[in-house]
Amino acid sequence: MTLYCGNCYILFDGKRCPVCGRKSARGPEPDDPCFLTEKEQLWGEMLADVLKQNGIPFIGKNVLGAGLSLKTGPMRERIRFYVPYGRLTEAGDIVEGLFSAPVEEE
Ligand SMILES: [Zn+2]
Repeated sequence: MTLYCGNCYILFDGKRCPVCGRKSARGPEPDDPCFLTEKEQLWGEMLADVLKQNGIPFIGKNVLGAGLSLKTGPMRERIRFYVPYGRLTEAGDIVEGLFSAPVEEE
């Protein structure tokens, strides 16, 4: 059975969350935010646009703090995306469609 960790926003199988170790007894609800993917800022902004176009609500969190991004530059910043569980499959398809195809650059 798939369970949901409301602390880490991830789905997992088993008794404890593999990230925080917390026990969870409940499965995901349609509105629970779930981890979708993590992308560099450039791709993250693209993905955010496509999710908006498809009407999928999402939460984007920068992975690096402001201090670190000063050192590495904004291009190295990564964004984690979370979408409601009820839209996770749909959003996953979008990510796959966007990022699994070979990227053609000029
Ligand atoms: Zn957790």
